[in-house]
Amino acid sequence: MKQYSLFVNGQWVPAASGRTFTTRNPADLREAVAEYASGGSEDAQAAFEAARLAFPKWSSSTPIGRGRVLSKASQLLEGRKAELAELLTREEGKTLAEATGEVQRAVDIFRFFGGLSYTVGGQTIPHDLPGNLLLTKREAVGVAALITPWNFPVAIPAWKLAPALLAGNTVVLKPASQAPALAVELARVLAEAGLPAGVLNVVTGEGRSFGAAVASHSSVKAVSFTGSYSVGHGLYQALAPRMVRTQLEMGGKNPTIVLADADLDLAVNLVARAGFGLTGQACTATSRVIVDQSVVEAFTEKLVAKAKSWKVGPGLTAGIDIGAVVSESQLKGNLEYVAIAESEGARIVSGGNRLLDGDLVHGLFMEPTVIDHVRPTMRIAQEEVFGPVIAVISVHGFDEALTVANGLEVGLSASLVTRDFKRALEYVDRIEAGVVKVNQISTGLALQAPFGGVKQSSTDTFREQGAGALEFYTRTKTVYLDYSV
Ligand code: NAP
Repeated sequence: MKQYSLFVNGQWVPAASGRTFTTRNPADLREAVAEYASGGSEDAQAAFEAARLAFPKWSSSTPIGRGRVLSKASQLLEGRKAELAELLTREEGKTLAEATGEVQRAVDIFRFFGGLSYTVGGQTIPHDLPGNLLLTKREAVGVAALITPWNFPVAIPAWKLAPALLAGNTVVLKPASQAPALAVELARVLAEAGLPAGVLNVVTGEGRSFGAAVASHSSVKAVSFTGSYSVGHGLYQALAPRMVRTQLEMGGKNPTIVLADADLDLAVNLVARAGFGLTGQACTATSRVIVDQSVVEAFTEKLVAKAKSWKVGPGLTAGIDIGAVVSESQLKGNLEYVAIAESEGARIVSGGNRLLDGDLVHGLFMEPTVIDHVRPTMRIAQEEVFGPVIAVISVHGFDEALTVANGLEVGLSASLVTRDFKRALEYVDRIEAGVVKVNQISTGLALQAPFGGVKQSSTDTFREQGAGALEFYTRTKTVYLDYSV
């Protein structure tokens, strides 16, 4: 079993309370993966203080110098890709192929922001008068607290950390307790790449006490959170009195619309990958398929055949399509949603059960599940499940499909399958989502493009990823210079 301490001011230290917690392999709960220091409020305060003290020097270094550290971290991470992907699978449960892809994503994110360091700067603006310069400078905001979920335990810390550090901020990172290993390993890699002490601090431990510390510590100037709506909403309220710059990216209930003219094999392939891939534990996973009634029967039949053909099992075993569910509470919640759907009159056409055959009994595995006869008013059509569960909703035509898709108070990712170009563009205009896909899976993002939701999926102010991610981590200073005098 691995042992991890807190990382504060460049030192590996135990929690002030001396408490620890352990993670277990969701594919085999008999295996303890790692033991962590359980940081509390006192540890969070120490980390904020270390970050505050490190800020003046780091923020006054050049972006190019900071970018070199990120590029070096990318190389070091790449060298450890196989080992880290295996650790990720052991702790979070996704398949090794999925974990390897995620570690590669972190490698690429650090490389992207390392390269971007040569372009970070402000703007010159024409002045009304001759002999005058009008320009903007981008400055770091200060200490940034980054709070991340378990489902992408390295990609999400990477996509927050890289722009935060490049911009010159110092950081305290709080990873999810369910799967913190990769975030702690990232700190190790960044330290080895030359990041000075105190610039990045990692506090593992209970989210609630960290949230309280963030809200009360005056040197925290920016908070970027990815996680559930309920936690994000509470955090937003707690930060409001201090008017802290806050970015929240939260859950969705992502639709894929399948029109009558769609290539059904393509549609089934996209929906299955977006709904069952990553064990359905992606914020952009398809969990509602809104299908034209003329093709709904044929579509559902093909989707069920696909679900039955997918192999569920331990993510480290070759040939597995769907890995373990992350935790017992998540699995319980998934199964409860299946029961609720049935009690509200929907029909379970495939799956719906925990898998207990052979060695699977030691882990947390669920059959990929297809539910049809779903009406838009049912809970299974409205609430995020976060498991391998797809609800099929039948509609009459494009307008009704859009009404159903837009009928919820969330809007993260949305996909459409059609051959009709005009409809596709109309859909792009009318769909209420931050990420819009046509003939593509609802999951999967380009690291160089902006990402974020609308409605209750996001604070919808600053976007993450791409060059624009720097906006959240910098403030603009406007400079007027008269050299005519
Ligand atoms: P979560 O329960 O909200 O936890 C997210 C993070 O917040 C964890 O690090 C957690 O720490 C911490 N936390 C818990 N209570 C807190 C508090 N009172 N104050 C401050 N921080 C607190 O979410 P999750 O279960 O890890 O992740 C699943 C959710 O994330 C889903 O809703 C999914 O849609 C969403 N998500 C969204 C995106 C996106 O980009 N939009 C991406 C991925 C996931 P502990 O683990 O210690 O509780």
